[in-house]
Amino acid sequence: MPLFCKQCNERRYPQYSELDKGTLWLCNKCQNYTDSEDVIIREQTEQERADIQAKSEEFERTSNFPAEKLSRRKGVN
Ligand SMILES: [Zn+2]
Repeated sequence: MPLFCKQCNERRYPQYSELDKGTLWLCNKCQNYTDSEDVIIREQTEQERADIQAKSEEFERTSNFPAEKLSRRKGVN
């Protein structure tokens, strides 16, 4: 499994790709994808980078919500 990048030793993350009809492994540092054989398929596109950025921002918003609620409750008590 290509869990670590061959070039920079960073952790790779599995990403489902519509374009490639399968799961590819992304290195955030090198911004390229490998298949399950650890063969580099292609570079990450601008669009994919933007999508991932948007998704992580959305995740931060939703995961921050319960913490906000909790501190507000604390203030009332
Ligand atoms: Zn890398």
